[in-house]
Amino acid sequence: MTTTDRHILDLHRRGLLTGALALTALVTQPGCVALAQDQGLFGLGVASGDPWPDSVVLWTRLTPATPDPVPLRWELATDDGFGQVVARGEALASPDHAHAVHVIPQGLQPGRRYWYRFHAQGQTSPVGRTRTAPAPGADVPVRFVNASCQRYEHGLFTAWRHVAADDTLDFVFFNGDYIYEYAHRAAGSTPILVRAVDGPECVTLDQYRARYAQYRRDPDLQAAHAAHPFIVVFDDHEVQNNWVSDIPSVPQPAGVEFALRKAAAFRAWYENMPVRPGALPRGAEITAYRRLVFGRQMALHVLDTRGYRDDQPCGDGRKPACEAVHNPAAQVLGPAQEAWLFDSVAGNSAAMQVLGQQIFMAPRPGPHGEVSMDSWDGYPAARARVMRGLRQRGVANPIVLTGDVHRAWAGLVMVDEQALGTEFVATSISSDGDGRDADQGALALIGAHPHLRFHSARRGYTRHEAKDGQMLAEFVALPFVSHPGAEARIVARLMTEARAPGIITA
Ligand code: FE
Ligand code: CA
Repeated sequence: MTTTDRHILDLHRRGLLTGALALTALVTQPGCVALAQDQGLFGLGVASGDPWPDSVVLWTRLTPATPDPVPLRWELATDDGFGQVVARGEALASPDHAHAVHVIPQGLQPGRRYWYRFHAQGQTSPVGRTRTAPAPGADVPVRFVNASCQRYEHGLFTAWRHVAADDTLDFVFFNGDYIYEYAHRAAGSTPILVRAVDGPECVTLDQYRARYAQYRRDPDLQAAHAAHPFIVVFDDHEVQNNWVSDIPSVPQPAGVEFALRKAAAFRAWYENMPVRPGALPRGAEITAYRRLVFGRQMALHVLDTRGYRDDQPCGDGRKPACEAVHNPAAQVLGPAQEAWLFDSVAGNSAAMQVLGQQIFMAPRPGPHGEVSMDSWDGYPAARARVMRGLRQRGVANPIVLTGDVHRAWAGLVMVDEQALGTEFVATSISSDGDGRDADQGALALIGAHPHLRFHSARRGYTRHEAKDGQMLAEFVALPFVSHPGAEARIVARLMTEARAPGIITA
């Protein structure tokens, strides 16, 4: 055990010890109470998510001064002045769920905007705007953002301010790393520290809840949630760096069972995300994969590449492949999710089948054959099986949307020299700080591999438009996230067509 490991172990122990007291601490620490009261009961904002043609999830999480349950009212209108309220109801914000509520008004009109708000204890929430999915047969353009990786310490969420201002969007797809679990770092202790998180490394339910609360107080993130419905899935940092299945990436400290940590992390994730009840965790198990259809143009298959995956081969990291990489039975999605995906693409007639997922799918071997074991390159048999299975089911060009690497990329998903799909990787919202226009190593990879086409090492997101059987990808980059006021600019506009893998300049 290294000194660092011992330090982490110590943090875990302290986390475990303080866990039982954390709820009390949350309401009795002067700083927390002052913040909650200053910003009112609705200081964590509002959100909506998982739009269907006839319903959408509405979410808020209250910050009351006492742990008692709080009754609230909600209303949904067709105008921002709430002159035409079309649905309303009551709910109870319970401390059992961190005072979060998920309500789902039914019977809504497809493809239209709604506004919503909550009332409790004489206070009214900020107004949120949302949008239902288009009617099943509607041949209308679909515009959305793919985003991920918002490490709070690494930068401001200015990118979200630009997303919030984009009035054309139908939704935001967030593919993972909504929070990072790491402990508070003091100024000067780490190269990138724009602002600090509170608390030790997240292990207990109360610690994960507090971390989500800190993130949700960010005004730019709140603005994006209030402006658009989100479709959210997790990656590794919602639990712990590079976990897969029931395997942590580093041994858990004595007394911390990884299954209990996962259960706490998933519960806090569910409480804080505008997701449907299908994603309610059952202890350390959760079903986050699901399909959302947007009229005739696209079906979004939201995938979970963490929960059912084989352990990273060859001890993880980026290195030349060892024997385990060539395991013919390798699993990334797991048999059940893989079968579900094949049924899901066969069971809808949208022009484009979009895979919303986490880890890099196009091959990206380095000059000495080194690959990232925490990407599909670590599991080539699984990649070939999934992509060939999609082709056999008539999907000529599966469009893969990815995150995780904190860089923007575009490339073709190759299986044995054949392009079987097209991948657009969104950069991070803030993780890795200001960044630069390009990494030299990435440019060398693009030079060596014709199937890799674009790269940027700035922060931002990708804006997509699905229209007439074509998927546009606009790569939006910010010059800095270390201080406020960055402008957003489009650094590449690329396009792929439903009929065949390929990338052209749009
Ligand atoms: Fe990340
Ligand atoms: Ca990640």
